[in-house]
Amino acid sequence: MARRPLPLPAWPLTIATARGSGGDKPIEINRLRRYDCRVPDLVRKQGYMPATAAMPGELITSLEELRAVLTRIDATQAEEIERVASRYAFRVPRFYVENVLRNDPADPLWPLAIPGQVELQDAGEERWDAFQLPRRVVDHPRWIQKYRYEALLRVTDFCSGLCRYCYLKNRDVAPGCISHGEIDEIFDAAEQSPQRGELRELILSGGDPLAAPGAILGHFAERIDRLNRTVPRRITVCIHTRDPVWYPGRILQSAALREALRRLAPSSYILHVVHPREVTPQLHAALQLLSELGGARRPLMLTQHPLFRGVNADAAIITDLYDRLDSGPVVVKPYYLIHPFPDGTLPQHRLTLRESQRILRELAAAPGTRVPLLTVPTPMGKCVIGPYDPLPDEGGYHLLHTKDGVPVRYSTGRVYNPHESRLSIPLAPTINGVEFG
Ligand code: SF4
Repeated sequence: MARRPLPLPAWPLTIATARGSGGDKPIEINRLRRYDCRVPDLVRKQGYMPATAAMPGELITSLEELRAVLTRIDATQAEEIERVASRYAFRVPRFYVENVLRNDPADPLWPLAIPGQVELQDAGEERWDAFQLPRRVVDHPRWIQKYRYEALLRVTDFCSGLCRYCYLKNRDVAPGCISHGEIDEIFDAAEQSPQRGELRELILSGGDPLAAPGAILGHFAERIDRLNRTVPRRITVCIHTRDPVWYPGRILQSAALREALRRLAPSSYILHVVHPREVTPQLHAALQLLSELGGARRPLMLTQHPLFRGVNADAAIITDLYDRLDSGPVVVKPYYLIHPFPDGTLPQHRLTLRESQRILRELAAAPGTRVPLLTVPTPMGKCVIGPYDPLPDEGGYHLLHTKDGVPVRYSTGRVYNPHESRLSIPLAPTINGVEFG
């Protein structure tokens, strides 16, 4: 069947106006992101205070605190951490350091949670949200819409921990936590939009929505209910989160958060879990609580994770991860196995697409309920690859299609060049044959 012509995507806003110490000046959102947790004054001026700040000592943000737990950080690595942390924010929950990480520099999870020299060579400028529908239900920097049936809301740019590979680290993203006023602005517009009836799902993402104040999530609940009264079929809510891994104590202890989630009643949670050791008893307890908050309509629990060479790029490790999740009181379905972003992923962790597919093949020989979808995130949308899909080399790229049928050229390589410019990431997306370099 001939593919429908698709409209060209629009670039989003890249500049925000914020009050800096030099007065009212346009400031690149990238710079706000990069320094967000190191400039409390700026954070305060934006009216944003992470909910977790109310629990002093729970988040480790300095080398000194980190070395008090991970005593095997040597002087060379300490100097490296300081250098990287002076450029990119550093934050890791005490729970994760004490219960998941090993006091061992060879622990493959260290580079995911602790700043490393390689980040200085890879600025991580990325464009994954850059291509959106030209006509979105809501035109707002926090409303990301690549598909007519699904939108993603960037509730906050804060997570309890900051993954070193995070594609948000250096992205154009609305800074701080969404306010009541912004929620009203967004939902007032959604209620007026003629396209709202096409929406099937709203994804609450971030940062991490579970690190947002309960009052904010409570207000979402109110407005989503109201929006649902104006459409013929329910717009479901899905929450993307890693907080049950980073800092399950917040979910277990915060009455305001629990009450908000009870009202919000999400249809699903997509949990970002990368390694079997991240499946702790506290994670199980948090999942049980989140599940029980759904009452008679319990949310679907799904897990997704990137594949990382040297960390989890091995079917046995992934199977162990799924088994450990399955040993708890809540059923968690493996959902997306994410081929690592060529941009943003730390260079030593990158894989070729064929390498990711080989891992999927080993996983595919399991009951269907235990088999994830191999997904390639591209600026044009997600491409899903089957275990035995042919992936011919078309001259340095594979020709993939997003789930909406948009053709995308995707690199056959995983080559990392430390001098590579962010403008030449090994990806050449196309729409109707027009290439975006
Ligand atoms: S949990 Fe997700 S959004 Fe938060 S720092 Fe990690 S990758 Fe980024």
